[in-house]
Amino acid sequence: MKKWVLAFGGVILAMGGTLAARTAMFTPEAVADGSAVKVGVAPSFDVQQAAQHLGEAVRFQTVSNQDPAQNKVEEWDKLHAWLVSTYPKAHAVMRREVLGKTLIYTWPGSDPAAQPIIVMAHQDVVPVTPGTEQDWKHQPFAGEIAEGAVWGRGSIDDKGSLVALFEALEAMAGQGFKPKRTIYLVSGHDEEVGGSGAEAAAKVLATRKVKALFTIDEGGLITTDTPMINGPAMMIGVAEKGYVTLRVTAPAEGGHSSAPPKELGSVNLAKAVVAIHQNQFPLELRGPTAQMVEVLAGKAGGINKLAAANRWLFGPMIVGKMAEAPASAALLHTTIAPTMLEGSPKENVLPQSANALINYRIAPWDSSAKVLERARASVAALPVKVDFTERPPREPTPVSSATSLGWQMIVASAQAGHQGLIASPYLVVAGTDSRSMAPVSDDVYRFQAISLATTEIKMIHGTNEHMTLTNLESLIGFYARLMVTAAG
Ligand SMILES: [Zn+2]
Repeated sequence: MKKWVLAFGGVILAMGGTLAARTAMFTPEAVADGSAVKVGVAPSFDVQQAAQHLGEAVRFQTVSNQDPAQNKVEEWDKLHAWLVSTYPKAHAVMRREVLGKTLIYTWPGSDPAAQPIIVMAHQDVVPVTPGTEQDWKHQPFAGEIAEGAVWGRGSIDDKGSLVALFEALEAMAGQGFKPKRTIYLVSGHDEEVGGSGAEAAAKVLATRKVKALFTIDEGGLITTDTPMINGPAMMIGVAEKGYVTLRVTAPAEGGHSSAPPKELGSVNLAKAVVAIHQNQFPLELRGPTAQMVEVLAGKAGGINKLAAANRWLFGPMIVGKMAEAPASAALLHTTIAPTMLEGSPKENVLPQSANALINYRIAPWDSSAKVLERARASVAALPVKVDFTERPPREPTPVSSATSLGWQMIVASAQAGHQGLIASPYLVVAGTDSRSMAPVSDDVYRFQAISLATTEIKMIHGTNEHMTLTNLESLIGFYARLMVTAAG
């Protein structure tokens, strides 16, 4: 007995030593900071005037409706003309191409051997949800400046970035900046409904054999109350989940509901949906999410750092904790969301066919083929069919490097405006136009240099979207420093 206790104690001691040693030596793997980059001096700009400009941009109702027939196409033309007249110096140095309603600008660099960079911001906005108009403190398309902010739909997503990029470019051109690397600005017209414009722009760049050093688009920001550290961190999207919807169909005979047969399509469909949903993809701490946990835990210190440094032991505990909230659980696996179910059109009629749509967001290590295979395996014993819908699947993007020169330039350019801010890789669960740039860019990053608390993020696509002047100034300064640093 005594011997056993001694041996056990020895194991614990040895383990404790290992834990402590690993924690002490812990640094997040494969995540660089910005200390190796010398940040260029950004040209000065006028934030008050920029706010006026953003207000003007918000007034163009470039709303992407689900039904494109409802879109006011002339609003895009008006926005284009406004850009030309508002930013004459930028337009004097850049070549402008119009691809449908999508814009490609090229500011040619002096060194043809240097890899170009791509900056992105889309023109369209989501509609204001009917019935919520009166909840806005300032009308969604009035572009008012009040309470230290520019208010309206698109003031952040993504006219905030579009205007900030042009303010930076106008200031750079005005102060005689000459880029060494070519700068491409790609502004998609339909990001909110699929991003066909950015896709077409990427094809044009591919025919020109463009291979950019990096692309920067929306998709991450500075969260001021970041989990684990309860403070600010720049969350830079290094990958986007894929997207696919499956249709499950259960054939049925139909007929009067007063004499139902033993086997019902509606019941088979219900069983199939449950079977698919119960066969969840495993929760895994890997890829960008693992990097994120390491960076944040390293900063947090204490028990968090101990756990992150010893994932061989505490990995399941971290996964369990993250799985408690839907937002963090989504970072750990491919999600399964049954969204639309359809049976008969009347309460006393049996369905002739019952079907369900199941929406998936695919983790970087999975694929649409794996999704279909898993769903079919889940319902193998049921008389149902599972297929992709007409909308083609979108695979997850490649994962961009968190040590590349582009990454370091982005981090350093943001840190120059926010001293001591830590940078973390991040898996973007939504979609952005930048996914189309993977073939023409070594790395693709998703980050807006604006600071928001978790509770404020819902105003994007929600009610009372507004860009504070502090955030607008941060965003312009960031883009200007980044372009001067990368292309100078
Ligand atoms: Zn957006």
